[in-house]
Amino acid sequence: MQLNDKIKNLEPYEPERGNFPIRLDANESFLPLPEKMQQRLAKVLSSLPLRRYPDPLAEEVCCKFADFYGISPSLVCAGNGSDELISVLCGSFTKKGDRVVVIEPDFSMYRFYTSLAECEVVSLQKGQDMRIDPDQVIQTVRENGAKMLLFSNPCNPTSLGLSREEVRRILRGVGDTLVVLDEAYMDFWDQSLLGETDKFDHLVILRTCSKMLGLAGLRLGFAVAQKPLIRALRACKSPYNVGMLTQAAGAAVLSETAFLEEARRKILNARDELYTGIKALERPGVLQVFPTCTNFVFCRLADSLRVFEFLKQKGILIRRIGKDLRITAGTKEENALLLRELQNALEAQTV
Ligand code: PMP
Repeated sequence: MQLNDKIKNLEPYEPERGNFPIRLDANESFLPLPEKMQQRLAKVLSSLPLRRYPDPLAEEVCCKFADFYGISPSLVCAGNGSDELISVLCGSFTKKGDRVVVIEPDFSMYRFYTSLAECEVVSLQKGQDMRIDPDQVIQTVRENGAKMLLFSNPCNPTSLGLSREEVRRILRGVGDTLVVLDEAYMDFWDQSLLGETDKFDHLVILRTCSKMLGLAGLRLGFAVAQKPLIRALRACKSPYNVGMLTQAAGAAVLSETAFLEEARRKILNARDELYTGIKALERPGVLQVFPTCTNFVFCRLADSLRVFEFLKQKGILIRRIGKDLRITAGTKEENALLLRELQNALEAQTV
């Protein structure tokens, strides 16, 4: 048996292994669920009829999600992480040979799933400043007759964001091309279009519980769009895509609005602390820090590989993307250690 050309050289996704006391590499939340909430969850989970299949439409958790964000649950579809929803959108909402525009660097799974779907990836490359020019995006989509445009806002990895008005401009400019707007990090910023899906019938917004909501291990994400798109998404996904434990735990945590607002505030404080600390180390030609509207800081280094390895040896794992480093905000102690060792790494560089 021969694997086909498109998959024969693929490797399973494997995050960096090893025992790192400080992991600031995956943009997760550093906040554990409070003890009381864990106990409440344990009670809820232990009473579930696990011999049954879960609700295929995950209605309760979709309602809690919709309540939390102030939108209608009829516009929501749940996924096994937003990653699954990206996979379904790329795999089922396109046809072989369709052109799909991505704006790179961006979340790497867009390119991956688009290629698996045998679409042609049209990559609009960001410039040195990593900014997105809405008019250039519109032009690229139009010139290529693209069927889909996928991008994250705010962006992983650049940590930069487009304003609501800039995204609206893109939506108005691309005609009826399907726009997948991945707002995985929008809980850390205030330019969401979640409340505007009624104005755009070619828009799907993705959200995740893996970042501000602190539930990366649950695997829970959501798509928000007008009813015909949500219907199609529900029809294309696997029927029981979100497990019963995930649905119940997600619903319970999404009801804890006070806890979640507090989590947002704490993560933003940690992010500001990290950003200010790294900014203080900025030096032309050595380290450049980008503004951030996410829970991580993106910086460009003259010698990113050496700094990355230096930190690894100190037990601190961050993410290296070519010349650039992406560092997730951690606890006060984690951020302080990171900053100390980053400074040591930079000093060692100039000696
Ligand atoms: N979109 C973006 C922009 C992300 O950074 C990530 C995770 N790093 C995802 C989607 C996937 O999130 P999930 O855990 O919901 O699959």
